Amino acid sequence: MLAYTYIDNGKFELTEKPLPKIQGPRDAIVRVTLASICTSDLHIKRGAVPRAVKGITVGHEMVGVVEEVGGAVGNVSPGDRVCVNVETFCGECWFCRRGYVNNCTDGNGGWALGCRIDGGQAEYVRVPFADTGLVKIPDGVSDEAALFAGDVLATGYWAVRISEQEPGDCVAVIGAGPVGLCAAACARIKRPSSIIICERNAQRRAFAKRYMPEAEVVPPEDMPRLMQALPRGGADRVLECGGTAASFEAAWRSARPNACVVVAALYEQAQTLPLPDMYGKNLTVKFGGVDGCDCAEILSLIERGEIDTVPLITHTFALKDIAAGYELFESGSDGVMKVAIKP
Ligand SMILES: [Zn+2]
Ligand SMILES: [Zn+2]
Repeated sequence: MLAYTYIDNGKFELTEKPLPKIQGPRDAIVRVTLASICTSDLHIKRGAVPRAVKGITVGHEMVGVVEEVGGAVGNVSPGDRVCVNVETFCGECWFCRRGYVNNCTDGNGGWALGCRIDGGQAEYVRVPFADTGLVKIPDGVSDEAALFAGDVLATGYWAVRISEQEPGDCVAVIGAGPVGLCAAACARIKRPSSIIICERNAQRRAFAKRYMPEAEVVPPEDMPRLMQALPRGGADRVLECGGTAASFEAAWRSARPNACVVVAALYEQAQTLPLPDMYGKNLTVKFGGVDGCDCAEILSLIERGEIDTVPLITHTFALKDIAAGYELFESGSDGVMKVAIKP
């Protein structure tokens, strides 16, 4: 089968690989019907994900149909349409039992797919811990609608969840890329008083405004004035989805005293917390990788029409043309937001 493979830093290539096989009783084989390219794939390509293993098939955001399951799999059966969680997790270790599945201690736990083991930019993928890593897609939800529920949308959902957002909060989202817009979509469900989206790229600002007309979408230079004008001098919840030094700084600066700042972005460089400047602001800062265990809840929100991320799919490429899809995604040209890959 065709599989997009991490050859070396700076080099991904479409290669021919044998079909994946069940390796353990908790595995499933999924025929991928739609996958996508994620910014994290680019981080791997640039060598910024040290635990990524050369030779693996990349891709960790996909939906498909279960082909085969191991003997211990009970939640899904062959023929089921499923969304694949970015994280596979044992469900039994200390971390999993508390919902901290990103830190599952099993060798196949956490972000393994498309990083440490073969992922989904391929025709088929083996998913360990299929009972926790696969979630059935409701009949009324299309592949396109479900595509992000296991990764970027899960990240947005998780960011909002750990921000402990309450009704009436003012939420600032820094960065209007796919994760930022997914975070904004999840924040909207919690009935905020307002959503302010900060984005430096004018094209992305226009996209965000079309996607979420009720949000205030502004360039970074407008943020200080806008934040000062808020009744409590800043946002109640800040979701940092930009991933740059400037967006990191904008995040804590935009927060009101005693606010919660959630850093969902993945950085390629270390960031600085200027504690003297922040002293007295009494912020709670939370950061890390998504605990991808809310997929079923997210799919039901999609089914009920409360979240729609289909507009984020701006381009679709066949798997055989995936290199062109990467080129477009990396260039950021043609108004690209998310690229879907059809095997
Ligand atoms: Zn991702
Ligand atoms: Zn675990």
